[in-house]
Amino acid sequence: MSAHIRPDLASIPAYTPGRSNPGAVKLASNETTLPPLPAAAKAIVAAAELSHRYPDNQSSELRAALAEFLGVDVANVAIGCGSVALCQELVQITCSSPQDEVLFAWRSFEAYPIVTQVGNATAVQVPLTGAHGHDPAYIHDLDAMAAAVTERTRLIFVCNPNNPTGTAVGRAELERFLDAVPAGVLVVLDEAYYEYMRLTPQSHPDGVEIGRHRPNVVVLRTFSKAYGLAGLRVGYAVGAPEVITALLKVHIPFSVNRVAQAAAIASLEARHELLERTDGVIAERERMRTALLAAGYQVPPSETNFVWLPLGARSPEFGEAAAAAGVLVRPYATDGVRVTIGDPHENELFIGFATEAGVVARFT
Ligand SMILES: *Cc1c(COP(=O)(O)O)cnc(C)c1O
Repeated sequence: MSAHIRPDLASIPAYTPGRSNPGAVKLASNETTLPPLPAAAKAIVAAAELSHRYPDNQSSELRAALAEFLGVDVANVAIGCGSVALCQELVQITCSSPQDEVLFAWRSFEAYPIVTQVGNATAVQVPLTGAHGHDPAYIHDLDAMAAAVTERTRLIFVCNPNNPTGTAVGRAELERFLDAVPAGVLVVLDEAYYEYMRLTPQSHPDGVEIGRHRPNVVVLRTFSKAYGLAGLRVGYAVGAPEVITALLKVHIPFSVNRVAQAAAIASLEARHELLERTDGVIAERERMRTALLAAGYQVPPSETNFVWLPLGARSPEFGEAAAAAGVLVRPYATDGVRVTIGDPHENELFIGFATEAGVVARFT
């Protein structure tokens, strides 16, 4: 007889990792294609040589570097083993019974329903704006989300820009939403793709600025996407000291390792070089979107390093066809397909596939 395991875990949606397939172009996991900068690689090697020592559990040096970069206090910054760990820790610090509700849009980041259930809380999902007669479509319906807040709501995730649809809400809408949420409810602004946003300065939704005088707002950012360190697992939270202190309490000890901390510090120092790379990704994103629109696909405007094709029930079939053509993309059940922006030749391979007459005929 096997050991007793929490029966509710049986219903947890399995996290589907991006596919990989030797030889195929991988546009499935929103990674960057370029390796760490030489300065980061050097810091990684130096830190690896001290691997017999435990890392700094408080990530003090990295927190100080981030605090300076963001213009906040060290007491406002927590580090996590990827920002996905911080998502789970945020559920842990806010929810203590199955009656407690975690509210988020759907479809959004796949980790939200999982961390909610692992944390023994109840997920409340609010559909994104639909395609029908809605402009903009596939974006957070913040009015509906505000209306879905109950006295049991403990935590709200707002993924901005949204994974997997790429859409972003602007500053004014976000502030109106935050004004409507009771002060006792913690709102997470998950900005994993922050560096890829190119909204106008007036509508640019910088969560750190927006949250500066709102103690119930916490911002998540990560070194996994634009900073190119997905393999090392470092993300961070910026929020009120009370929230940060609670996060430190539930943090799995030493889960942000020494190599990760060193690489993050070096990458932050070299951020100008890294962020220049994002300009190239954005140019490719716009090229990809223009080509797909011209072929007849619907493609919501993206503020990220991926585009979304709302193909509905045909999504899995599109994913299979792309894989057969040597490009791995990410289909989401019967909602759509997410395609990461890769190197120009990789994007070209995808565009070539998607705009082929037979494919266009089947999927647009
Ligand atoms: C990729 C991603 C993250 C986190 O990634 P980590 O690698 O855990 O830092 C968080 N939120 C969203 C929406 C993402 O797409």
